Amino acid sequence: MATPLTPQADWIRVRVSGKINLALRVGAVRPSGYHPLATVFQSVSLFDEVGVRWAEPGSFSVTTIGDQAGQVPTDGRNIAVRAAKLLADEYGPHRFGAEIVIRKTIPVAGGMAGGSANAAGALLACSVLWDLDISPDELRVLGAQVGADVPFQLMGGTALGTGRGDELVPVLSRGTYHWVLALSEHELSTPAVFGRFDELNPRHAGELAMPTEVMNALVGGDAAALGKVLVNDLAPAATSLRPGLRQVLDAGRELGALGAIVSGAGPTCAFLAANEADAVDLSVRLSSEGLCRAVRRVTGPVPGARLIT
Ligand code: ATP
Repeated sequence: MATPLTPQADWIRVRVSGKINLALRVGAVRPSGYHPLATVFQSVSLFDEVGVRWAEPGSFSVTTIGDQAGQVPTDGRNIAVRAAKLLADEYGPHRFGAEIVIRKTIPVAGGMAGGSANAAGALLACSVLWDLDISPDELRVLGAQVGADVPFQLMGGTALGTGRGDELVPVLSRGTYHWVLALSEHELSTPAVFGRFDELNPRHAGELAMPTEVMNALVGGDAAALGKVLVNDLAPAATSLRPGLRQVLDAGRELGALGAIVSGAGPTCAFLAANEADAVDLSVRLSSEGLCRAVRRVTGPVPGARLIT
């Protein structure tokens, strides 16, 4: 089978990135079931690749490649398929179909919005494949219908997300940040983490705090200042479901990270280093602790979904 791993004339390929949340403030659950969020996203250099080519109208298939490919559904539940179908329904019902191939590197159910990144990739790739007259803003509006993180995964960089995390404003961020990611052996379900958050915060009501400290540190390009103010309201819920994460976070701090945080709903943990050399040192030492499935060194911010030409 031809795959998008090598450039081929009939494939449109898009590179998409993982994200971490430098701040994730969570408000009380709304009657609709959603939690209002105030979050600062940053895209980091862990990339999946989404390739699409023409298929019969109404035919949508997906194949996944990579370490954790077996953990991703390859039927209509795949979020990239759902995104492509939605785009087809909106812009050319009964005219379009797509064969989709996804190469996974972003951890599955790891709190890095890999599925949302794949949906963003499918939207961008299909809009080019089908030659649609659609603006980036329109693509983001459609993406929000597929998942709250999809608009950010289209945009990338560094952004403040409010509402469900889908109302975005770019955040000024100076410089490049060096991160070490500890990837977990296990998946963690985002709904389960929010459920535990509700159990741990039964009378939670107050105002949602805006992550101004994080935004100030980013404007200054100050990694040491940023490390001190990283915040994730979901961390107690994630660590209560996966107590081993506390050990991972403690190990990273003891090994000299400027800051340590659970990414999104976890279980991936992110450690901030002062520079590339420190990140190399931290990643080697964290690997040798044997507390996680794998350690990856990444930088941010990087772009969101982008065509590979
Ligand atoms: P969230 O965006 O909910 O925080 P996450 O980043 O923790 O999610 P994802 O990798 O997006 O996790 O996967 C969440 C679930 O979505 C997985 O358990 C998987 O079964 C399902 N899924 C559907 N499509 C995809 C896809 N293309 N890639 C990864 N997971 C997918």
